[in-house]
Amino acid sequence: MNCNESLSLMHEYLDGDLAGPEAAELKKHLLVCASCRTALKQFERTEALVRSMPRMNAPDDMTDRIMSALPKPKRRSTWTHWIRRHPAASVASVFLLVMLGSFMSLWNDDKDLMVKGNDLQNIVIQGDYVYVPAGQTVHGNLLVQNGHIQVDGNVDGNLVVIDGSYNLASTAHIAGKIVPVDRAISWFWYKVNEWISLAAG
Ligand SMILES: [Zn+2]
Repeated sequence: MNCNESLSLMHEYLDGDLAGPEAAELKKHLLVCASCRTALKQFERTEALVRSMPRMNAPDDMTDRIMSALPKPKRRSTWTHWIRRHPAASVASVFLLVMLGSFMSLWNDDKDLMVKGNDLQNIVIQGDYVYVPAGQTVHGNLLVQNGHIQVDGNVDGNLVVIDGSYNLASTAHIAGKIVPVDRAISWFWYKVNEWISLAAG
């Protein structure tokens, strides 16, 4: 008996279908063949393993069990799935999105020069350049947005510069305060404070 014949007899033996004379033949081969003995041991172990798992004998049932053990196909949208898995990160990213959205709309608001004040008759405006000539006085507050203000004269109030720049000559005199405002930064800190106070409850 060769090893191939031995292997096929082993399967019959494990199935309980091995007749007396064939069983004797197989036994004879196993006594002299170490590799077939090892093979049979492994078959027996596998057989024992399969038997130890009830309801796994029928191939159809096994397929069902394997299928049910596999991860379910993800029909739900990955977005909601992600939110469920990362609630904290989701809140943060939604906040960022909202923040960015407001930020962009604010940023794109108006880029045109805006000059506000009660007394603008002595002011020279060229493009986005605002000029208070030396010897001239602006009565009250002066607000300049999206531009550069050059003051050589006097401002009899506050100078508010929003999203712009300013320069004061040695002859300049500002009676009130100079208030530079960066809308993006102000708005950002306003939002952060608002959010922190909300989070703090
Ligand atoms: Zn053999």
